[in-house]
Amino acid sequence: MEKRDYYEVLGVDKNVSADDLKKAYRKKAMQYHPDRNPGDKEAEEKFKEAAEAYDVLSNPDKRARYDQFGHAGLSGAAGAGGFDVGGFDLNSIFERFGDLLGGAGGFRGGFSEFFGGGVGGGRPQKRVRRGSDLRIKVKLTLEEIAKNTEKKLKIQKDVPCPVCGGTGAKDKSSVVTCSKCHGSGQVVVQQRSIFGIMQSVSVCPDCHGSGEVIKDKCPNCHGTGTVKGDEVVTVNIPAGVENGMQLSMRGKGNAAPNG
Ligand SMILES: [Zn+2]
Ligand SMILES: [Zn+2]
Repeated sequence: MEKRDYYEVLGVDKNVSADDLKKAYRKKAMQYHPDRNPGDKEAEEKFKEAAEAYDVLSNPDKRARYDQFGHAGLSGAAGAGGFDVGGFDLNSIFERFGDLLGGAGGFRGGFSEFFGGGVGGGRPQKRVRRGSDLRIKVKLTLEEIAKNTEKKLKIQKDVPCPVCGGTGAKDKSSVVTCSKCHGSGQVVVQQRSIFGIMQSVSVCPDCHGSGEVIKDKCPNCHGTGTVKGDEVVTVNIPAGVENGMQLSMRGKGNAAPNG
């Protein structure tokens, strides 16, 4: 599918200010919000398209590259600092732009409440925590740059705790359903505002949205689920790389806390 021009997607002109850009994005996001268009695939695509456009245009660096090279300037092939714009799913949009979309807490539930969806509608999914990224510098000889090179890197990183298997719990029975949110991972918050009392759904502060809490922590990792460890990673470095170029690998960063 041909990608549409990002300015066109948001209905703004090329000289748009950051403020107007934000307004334009909000308008589109509200129009196509999945909670207002349940089951409408086209609206969902438009919603994602708007988020992607906003992600690029709200970032001066990405915007400059897009202005100069168009979509091609943003693909991974563009070299140093290239990034992946293909990875937009609904959850990542709510995570990244939730504060723009939602009222109080900046999450999906708050948004649907704002538009009269009721507390029951549009429940956010349980949060899945992901591990953090690792960034590693590699020095290469001129010879290595000239041809394809395989580098074995020994990296120190967070690996799943071998004792608890990454759960952070002493044993199976020490993981219990969170009593504050009864396992839903969310709590209803009431806020006074100029419109009266508003209810919104917030991530449960006790379990951070997972719906479970650990009663007895794993003695080896103290409940974090991860320990420091070494992993040898083989990286394929293509010929002709330049100084400062970045290559990314999926699934090789730090292990996520609590599985
Ligand atoms: Zn909870
Ligand atoms: Zn452990």
